[in-house]
Amino acid sequence: MNRQRKTILGLARLTGQRKGQTMPRLKDQTQRQDAAFFLNAAYLHLVSESLVHQRSTERAVLPFAWMLACSWIAMAMLGCSNHSSESPNASDSVAVAVSDQETSQDPQTVALVAMNTTSSVASNANAGDINPKRAFSYLEKICKIGSRTTGTSGMQKQQQMLEEHFTALGGVVLWQPFESRHPVTGAKVEIKNLVVRWRPELTERVLLCTHYDTKPFPAMDSKNPKGLFVGANDGGSGTALFMELGHTMPNLSLQVGVDFVFFDAEELVYEENRDPYFLGSKYFAEAYVNDPSSARYRCGILLDMVGDADLQLYYEENSFKFARPLVEEVWGIAKQLGVKEFEPKLRHYIRDDHLPLNEIAKIPVIDIIDFDYPRGAPKNRSYWHTMADTPDKCSGASIAKVGRVLVEWMKRQK
Ligand SMILES: [Zn+2]
Repeated sequence: MNRQRKTILGLARLTGQRKGQTMPRLKDQTQRQDAAFFLNAAYLHLVSESLVHQRSTERAVLPFAWMLACSWIAMAMLGCSNHSSESPNASDSVAVAVSDQETSQDPQTVALVAMNTTSSVASNANAGDINPKRAFSYLEKICKIGSRTTGTSGMQKQQQMLEEHFTALGGVVLWQPFESRHPVTGAKVEIKNLVVRWRPELTERVLLCTHYDTKPFPAMDSKNPKGLFVGANDGGSGTALFMELGHTMPNLSLQVGVDFVFFDAEELVYEENRDPYFLGSKYFAEAYVNDPSSARYRCGILLDMVGDADLQLYYEENSFKFARPLVEEVWGIAKQLGVKEFEPKLRHYIRDDHLPLNEIAKIPVIDIIDFDYPRGAPKNRSYWHTMADTPDKCSGASIAKVGRVLVEWMKRQK
């Protein structure tokens, strides 16, 4: 499938940048709360005044007090609705707060942020849960970009969206850029792996990875093999899953650091048997070997095609060959959680980004992949690499089920 010619140029380079752009939001909210508090206090003062001097002031004060009470209620409602539109749930608020806490120099603001964090956690006992609806909304958002083939404007849009998303949630965003040659034109093409680091201070780390590029064309589409390929399941589902997991990460008490790695150019393939697969993961693995001072990974999990509405996840043969204990551990966790979509039977032999990680980097990495898309479809009816790989064939529930298993797995890493 992939005669892998040497396309790796240049040296590994990880460049990082952090943004702390959420401060104004928090300040606006604080100002609204202050205003509401002032009006409330004024109202209470006037009511108590009217009780003491009832005869002389009741006619003048009570209507005014009622007016103030109404203003206070309106202000409070404005504050609430504004807050909820900016932060869809409590875990959002926590993430924003953590991010602000790290960038703020003002002790007063830090105190406010700390209060905000505590109340948000207390107000939602399920803050660590994976939200299927939101996961699906991310999948739709990704696919709305259209094609996200390596080096295209669609990929650039996605990269910008992901950097903003994970920075706002408190992840450390790093880029690993390198260059290759376009398989058709021979022109220079920029390839960029994305790493989002959680608990960057921990030296013992694990990998969660996916690819985030889409194949240039739906080569398996019998009607239109040069049509638009949006790769909802193939390229989109792993990315959407990580976007959703990003909300949970700041709330997890992790004993090991976790890196989300988004591989570019998994399938910059215009012609099978000519163009190489796995350019991003191959580069990542070689850079890892060449730089022993970089983060060390104990093991890893690759996620690919995990959004199928009719999900079933079998043991994959290469994963079994390279990292059988990890396969059994993950499927064992799924069994304990009652996630029946993880079926403990060998089924497919898949060549995917986990191969360079195992073979070159020597990191035990398994592939969680649903290659029956949809279940029971004969080969010529599969949505894989066709125009039919669209969000309506996927579900947030499937993405969330995989996410729950991953969260539990991360929690158990000691
Ligand atoms: Zn593919």
